[in-house]
Amino acid sequence: MKVVVVGAGYAGTMAANRIARRARGAQVTLVNPRPDFVERIRLHELIAGSGGASRPLAAMLRESVTLRVAAAQKIGDGVVALTDGDAIDFDRLVYAAGGTVVAPEGAFAVGAVDDARRAADQLANLPTDARVDVVGGGLTGIETTTEVASERPDLRVRLITDGPVAPSLGRRARARVAAVLDRLGVETVRAEWNSPGDAALTLWAVARQVSELAEASGLEVDTDGRMVVDASLRSVSDARLYAVGDAAAVPGSRMSCQAAIPQGAHAADAIARESRNRAPKPYSMGFTAQCVSLGRRDGVVQRVHRDDSPAGAWLGGRAAAFVKEQVCRSTVVATRSSQYAWMPGPS
Ligand SMILES: Cc1cc2nc3c(=O)[nH]c(=O)nc-3n(C[C@H](O)[C@H](O)[C@H](O)COP(=O)(O)OP(=O)(O)OC[C@H]3O[C@@H](n4cnc5c(N)ncnc54)[C@H](O)[C@@H]3O)c2cc1C
Repeated sequence: MKVVVVGAGYAGTMAANRIARRARGAQVTLVNPRPDFVERIRLHELIAGSGGASRPLAAMLRESVTLRVAAAQKIGDGVVALTDGDAIDFDRLVYAAGGTVVAPEGAFAVGAVDDARRAADQLANLPTDARVDVVGGGLTGIETTTEVASERPDLRVRLITDGPVAPSLGRRARARVAAVLDRLGVETVRAEWNSPGDAALTLWAVARQVSELAEASGLEVDTDGRMVVDASLRSVSDARLYAVGDAAAVPGSRMSCQAAIPQGAHAADAIARESRNRAPKPYSMGFTAQCVSLGRRDGVVQRVHRDDSPAGAWLGGRAAAFVKEQVCRSTVVATRSSQYAWMPGPS
């Protein structure tokens, strides 16, 4: 069975390795535009200069997985066309092209590695007292703001959001985030952002866009461009395709590596079942926590119900920073080893 995996993020790398390990006689080709595995959940560290966010993909993949460095341009009838003019046949394809954040003019997208690298260079050269604006009051915006403010206390850092800060957290965890922003001297501006103004650097932490490949290939997508899937994560347009991670419209899911990794694993297991002439099982996954770093030495871990709504328990401070760091490390271990177990979703 020829299997092509499009996208080597958390979902795609997990899927490729797990198919190679579990599916009978599968030849797996992983297509990705660069030879690196980008740890998107560390891009705010890359920007602030407190950490790195990429490692060679070759070191992440099982020997039997063939890495093809190119971008997929169009998914057709059992064949995927690549930007370098080549095309690859497949019996099954896992669509894991993830998020493609494009920042407005004058801003850098936190979730796009090339933008993050440019922003890091610019930030490193900013003089004392320069103003940095971070746009977006969700978890990525908070992680970016606190990382920059704690690494560069000499700068004036603002968090700009047209909605509440950290709306997905519970009341006490939200209060803790507000207290840390205050301690770091961050000014929170409740307004709709429309231009960089006199900010020396603007970081765009609003991440709702996904790859346009599914739509460009004529496959059914939702209003955000995510591939619409059935209960087993198969495309409703073509049962040979599975969609996973940020690029898949999975009901009840959230754009996160917490969801991307089990979805990649599930698609692999479904293909392994098909390789034994068995039908794929329905996908089910329950969330456990929302982990937020607040610089390298602080953080918040919000326990959540399986449907991702906040539960009462939460953890703050150094202990939470430690937990978050272990979670980040475990994503790499899981995708590389392709070993992962998860809780079923709410009934
Ligand atoms: C700063 C930051 C912090 C975050 N923190 C957390 C966190 O703490 N916890 C959490 O759960 N989530 C977090 N997230 C969200 C998380 O990073 C994403 O939800 C996750 O990366 C989704 O994984 P994925 O595999 O679907 O997509 P991605 O990781 O985006 O990978 C997609 C891959 O597909 C490739 N690709 C794109 N187009 C093509 C194409 N046409 N052909 C071939 N390949 C293609 C890309 O180059 C990329 O390698 C964070 C995000 C950011 C930006």
